[in-house]
Amino acid sequence: MKRIKKIIGGLIVGTMLMAASHVLAAEQAKNVILMISDGMGFNTMKATDYYTGAPAVYESFSVKGSMNTSSAGASGGYVGVPYNPAQMWSNFNYQKSGYTDSASAATAMYTGVKNYDNQINKTTNGANLTTFFETASLQGKATGAVSTVNFDHATPATVVAKTTNRNDYATITSQMIASGLDVIMGAGHPFYNNSGQAVTANYSIVGNETNWNSITGNANGRTFIETKSDFEALANGTLLANKVFGVAQVRDTIQDSRAGAPGAAMNTNVPNLLTMTKAALNVLDNNVNGFAIMIEGGAVDWANHANGLKRSIDEQIDFNNSVQYVVDYLNAGSNGNNWNNTLLIVTADHETGALWGPTAGTFNQISDNGIGNLPGAVYNSGNHTNTLVPFFAKGTDAGLFNTYLTGSDPEMDNKYGIDLAFNSYIDNTDIFKVMSAAQNTAVPEPSVILLFGLGMAGLAAFRCK
Ligand SMILES: [Zn+2]
Repeated sequence: MKRIKKIIGGLIVGTMLMAASHVLAAEQAKNVILMISDGMGFNTMKATDYYTGAPAVYESFSVKGSMNTSSAGASGGYVGVPYNPAQMWSNFNYQKSGYTDSASAATAMYTGVKNYDNQINKTTNGANLTTFFETASLQGKATGAVSTVNFDHATPATVVAKTTNRNDYATITSQMIASGLDVIMGAGHPFYNNSGQAVTANYSIVGNETNWNSITGNANGRTFIETKSDFEALANGTLLANKVFGVAQVRDTIQDSRAGAPGAAMNTNVPNLLTMTKAALNVLDNNVNGFAIMIEGGAVDWANHANGLKRSIDEQIDFNNSVQYVVDYLNAGSNGNNWNNTLLIVTADHETGALWGPTAGTFNQISDNGIGNLPGAVYNSGNHTNTLVPFFAKGTDAGLFNTYLTGSDPEMDNKYGIDLAFNSYIDNTDIFKVMSAAQNTAVPEPSVILLFGLGMAGLAAFRCK
């Protein structure tokens, strides 16, 4: 009798601990994947959907909403203020005021702190900030930064760098080289022009020749790759590496800045974001502790700055394909990674171009001209705007975002013709809060694991009976 009690006790404890352990496991994100389409507004997204004839995969995620992108302002200039729905819909030009830049937007998302535009991981008092990715690296996780623009551009640079000047490529590149990043991929090759043609070296894109020699010399243990075939080999597993510095053979951006008409032939000597995404995950998922990565569709912003809708859509399609790959990767449970141990976030850092429907200067919806045809849309600015941007999340702790959806703009669904869910919004600093909460949730203590083991022993004994 005493023995039976003990067995039943063991069963109960085992069951309870199984439940507790399950909860802990469900809240613990082994991996965090942050995907940013730089400059993507709701109408960038809709324009691409109309062009392709189908919504992007992330639009069906159950956790979604809008996001405020305001910064602390500009050093010595304007003071940043959060998005104001009443002002937005009463004055068409309001959206063109007080917009963030990518450096401060990335700092807010990666550190939870709003700083001045053009500054990377510096507080408004000049102190250094530690990013979510740096903390993940210190926790033993593999970390990466991938972009379709030069790897030392604001959004990827902010994953680790710290400088008051986002254009200081010498400092940024040297900091990235010295950082704990396991994967760095992007454009930014000094020996190629924007059309992927070999030219006389111009080292300004990496700051100086010394930085370039460090990169190509496999500094800090990163294998240097540059050819399209090497990116593809890394993606399909025929090339193996633990740490990689991949600089595609093109200067400023993989495709967007190439010469020719909007629909001119693509550069053929470079990987796309999809290939870089596959390659990066293939390297990072070797770490048993998990990984944290930022993957950027960086040139959506550039195309929108140039008011080039065709190239913006092209860039957004590459971004969407990359998100689709990540979704497929997690659906398949690749290398043990799935929705129960991974948090995926898809968002933008700000809108660019004030893209609206065909009637300029008014809040009119863009029109669908069918698959393969550019939608009816007009850019109303060549710069960033302060409008809300979309965010989507799926996987471990994605539901935490619902507690941060405290902003309300009841006009969003009506003005854009989008889901009611986008009438609620978070702040860009909440990205950091959710990523950190997801990844820093306490893992089971050794004593709990021990008790769990004993409980399982009791369960096993009961079963053996
Ligand atoms: Zn921009």
